[in-house]
Amino acid sequence: MVREFSAGGVVLRRMQERWWVAVIEPQSRRKPHSPASVLALPKGNVDKGEKPEETAVREVREETGLEADLLSKLTDIEYIYIRSWGDRERVFKTVSFFLLMYRSGRIGHITPGMRREVRQSLWLPLDEAPGKLSYRGERDVVKLAQRYLAAHPEP
Ligand code: ATP
Repeated sequence: MVREFSAGGVVLRRMQERWWVAVIEPQSRRKPHSPASVLALPKGNVDKGEKPEETAVREVREETGLEADLLSKLTDIEYIYIRSWGDRERVFKTVSFFLLMYRSGRIGHITPGMRREVRQSLWLPLDEAPGKLSYRGERDVVKLAQRYLAAHPEP
């Protein structure tokens, strides 16, 4: 089976006495105007010569417009999907997720090129994220971030 490796970030920010997490709504490839929206964590392909944690920081910057600092590795998630292009190969994908702390930037300040990939990016209250993210693997990743915060109240 084809293998893919990506990395992504759970970006945390303290605002108005709550914790928030940066999420994206990817552009739908099949139906550009489909109303069924997907909410996901920012992530992307690990480039040659890049460490997964560098990919996570870069993808967060590109997909959300935010600068963030690495706190900790969270976990790897795995899933299988079927490519919608070419000869519809099955892909076994691993995504490494890192916990990042917001440093600067305004969410959604992304390049026109990235806008073709990301319909919008937004801050979600961290406690609502497990109920709103589209993929179970990512919901579990956010729960790990919540456990990290419970153990490190002032990260
Ligand atoms: P990347 O963001 O890593 O560059 P991509 O946009 O090319 O990747 P994915 O986000 O992995 O690809 O999406 C490919 C397929 O896998 C889509 O059909 C998507 O709905 C599905 N998918 C994405 N994330 C997950 C997940 N965590 N669990 C299960 N399926 C997922």
